[in-house]
Amino acid sequence: MPDVIVIGSGFGGSIAAKRFTQAGKSVAIVELGERWEDPAKLQQSQDTKYILRLFRDYPVNYLQSKPKLVVTQGMGFGGGSLVYSGIHLRAPTHAFTGWPAGYTRANLDPFYSRVEQRLGVATMADTFSFRRPSVFAQGAALAGLPAPVANPLAMTNCVRCGWCVPICKFGRKNTMQHTYLADALATGLLSVYTNRKVKYIAKYGSKYRVVYWKTDIRADNYHIVNSGSLYYLEADKVVIAGGSMESPVLLQRSLTEPLPTGYTRITSFSTTDLGKRIDGTGDFAVGGFVPQQVDTYKGAIMMSNIDMGDYVLEDLHAIPVGPGVKLEAAFTLGGKDRTWGLEYKQRYKDFGRNMLLVGVMGKSPSGSNMSVTNDNGNAKLSTTAFQPPPGSLEAARNIITSLGGVVGKGPWERSGIAATVHPTGGCPMGTVVRPTDMQVYNNPGLHVVDGSVLPGTVMRNPSNTIAAVAEKAMDVILGVPGAPTW
Ligand SMILES: Cc1cc2nc3c(=O)[nH]c(=O)nc-3n(C[C@H](O)[C@H](O)[C@H](O)COP(=O)(O)OP(=O)(O)OC[C@H]3O[C@@H](n4cnc5c(N)ncnc54)[C@H](O)[C@@H]3O)c2cc1C
Repeated sequence: MPDVIVIGSGFGGSIAAKRFTQAGKSVAIVELGERWEDPAKLQQSQDTKYILRLFRDYPVNYLQSKPKLVVTQGMGFGGGSLVYSGIHLRAPTHAFTGWPAGYTRANLDPFYSRVEQRLGVATMADTFSFRRPSVFAQGAALAGLPAPVANPLAMTNCVRCGWCVPICKFGRKNTMQHTYLADALATGLLSVYTNRKVKYIAKYGSKYRVVYWKTDIRADNYHIVNSGSLYYLEADKVVIAGGSMESPVLLQRSLTEPLPTGYTRITSFSTTDLGKRIDGTGDFAVGGFVPQQVDTYKGAIMMSNIDMGDYVLEDLHAIPVGPGVKLEAAFTLGGKDRTWGLEYKQRYKDFGRNMLLVGVMGKSPSGSNMSVTNDNGNAKLSTTAFQPPPGSLEAARNIITSLGGVVGKGPWERSGIAATVHPTGGCPMGTVVRPTDMQVYNNPGLHVVDGSVLPGTVMRNPSNTIAAVAEKAMDVILGVPGAPTW
């Protein structure tokens, strides 16, 4: 049996696995998705038979149920890093207001640097020689907005094919699989258990037992497995790293599931915030057609950003990935909002050439009003949409109209649907876990290290902050000399 069990292998889980193994501990990763190291498995495809093996949608049936809130996350050995766009922004100084003492931008900067170094984060020198960021910059100038700057990206020698999501076929996106998990595997101390979904964690004698289902009974959507035979691993230490949708409900199940003889429940702790304070980080998109040649599908997914303080605007790639493929935009044609018909089709004829999308990441006024609850083994998302950062959609529309373009209506404008791939919170530090080492209150040896511990909006694409906080927590957990006391 391993010294440590890590549940999930995204940003938090990979960092925990690397740090523990490099400290000489044997680690078992339990991950609900598959392994993707074999390049022969990778496809430049939107085929749902492929996509739904890599993405987790909440709620899973949102095409039929048309909820007001949709969250999409990655899964597999590498978690969200497999499908992410590689954008690594640091949270602005004012984002840390209200966080537990010690969490400031200055104090986190060394940890951001450590993450960026390992992931090879750098800006592309020729960012603005691509048409999309360059048209975006032109529109920003015409709209009287600040000039965009190139995004720092976790990519090396990008071939600019535009298929970063899902998983770069050429291995140029520096995912956790290529970096932190490879480091952990190189120690010889990491065992990997993929296609397994943890049902609950309980005590068995002095150890923790991590009890799981196998998910290979499904061809995709592994995250909705909630039945079948149960298996277990046990260890003295457990790190929960299932992300904002799954870590809170795993703890909820651990507090409520009936236990077999011989098992005892983990110790209770304050659950007031468990599954709550989940923030969508903005994640709105405004799109339209402009007269300029955009070559919208060329280059990385979002190559530049305009810093607007509480939010950023980013030039967004048009290959419809993740939620984009399923949440269509309407155009006003013949006085009506349409998503069909000949005129609509004609409008899309030159979409690759003339479509310009603007992504919005930031702080919404309604803030962290999303929540998740355990629903018979699955994560059930709340249904109230959060709001866009004030002024952000207007600023994005201005870019398109200042270029002489026509703006479409996305899911928010048409139906009040907020969709995000950037949830944080759910097990916030200060109430569910200790801010120092992310130990679940009252449960020595049980930690949460992932995006769920973030206590408030980071106002930017969150992976860099999730990873920096994870590195910091691991310094404390491992008792590294000079580890922060906050
Ligand atoms: C299409 C897309 C593009 C994105 N682009 C960016 C970007 O460019 N920049 C950025 O900052 N962020 C981006 N994100 C967001 C980013 O992926 C997440 O913020 C990040 O991955 C969260 O890290 P995490 O460690 O909290 O969880 P995750 O990376 O989601 O990892 C959690 C892992 O745990 C596994 N798991 C969950 N529950 C269980 C269970 N019960 N048992 C076993 N395993 C479990 C999951 O399968 C998953 O692999 C993007 C997300 C998507 C979907």
